[in-house]
Amino acid sequence: MTVSLCGCGYRDPTGGGTDDARVRSLLDAAADLLLGASCPACSRPGWGLCRDCTEALVMPVRVLDRGLPVPLYAACPYRPLLQRVVPSYKDDGALHLARPLGSLLARAVAAHDLPSGTRLVPVPSLPAAVRARGFDHAAALCAEAARVSGIPMARRVLRRSGRGRDQRGLSRAARQANLADSMLARDPGVPVLLIDDVATTGASLREALRALQAAGVVVVGAAVLADADDARSGQRIRRHLLVKG
Ligand SMILES: [Zn+2]
Repeated sequence: MTVSLCGCGYRDPTGGGTDDARVRSLLDAAADLLLGASCPACSRPGWGLCRDCTEALVMPVRVLDRGLPVPLYAACPYRPLLQRVVPSYKDDGALHLARPLGSLLARAVAAHDLPSGTRLVPVPSLPAAVRARGFDHAAALCAEAARVSGIPMARRVLRRSGRGRDQRGLSRAARQANLADSMLARDPGVPVLLIDDVATTGASLREALRALQAAGVVVVGAAVLADADDARSGQRIRRHLLVKG
């Protein structure tokens, strides 16, 4: 039997449903008993995002205005569900969430009318942040979106130059200044779609776009998992967001 570890369906153990759903309920109950596992969005016992939360996150792709000269699409708003799920994934080591989150991100990728040969390119995280987490959360998310969308991911197109630091706690203007000339790019020879996890002020996306265009890369657009406009976000959200940090 193959068991998916994410995007799973929560079912009331006392209710009806298929045999598969009953097996799923038993596995969730066992995960809760043995591991204390719960849905990161609603805290129901189980492993990974429960079905209700997964379905609640599937919504029309939104167009964002972050001052980019190319189309920018987001799969979901950051609040309320993803403000709990994204920190679990990127900061608490819930790596299995890359799959459902990457599937959502793929919806924003699919909203673009992409020319043939386009590759997905993730905004690079700070090397120190990757070392601290033990994985590159943005690259993992991009890889999953590539798998689901069928648009391949190009690696090592963008990298950090060594300038810039963790964006947390910085104002909108300070973020932009902190990121100036913080990224370098190489031309993969094909059009690229820029990928990021969360769009706050858009400063990281704009810097990535600048670096790509300086290298002569054709950028056809950008896609992010979540829209977290700072103007509508509170301190609690900013504390959780490690924007490419
Ligand atoms: Zn849930």
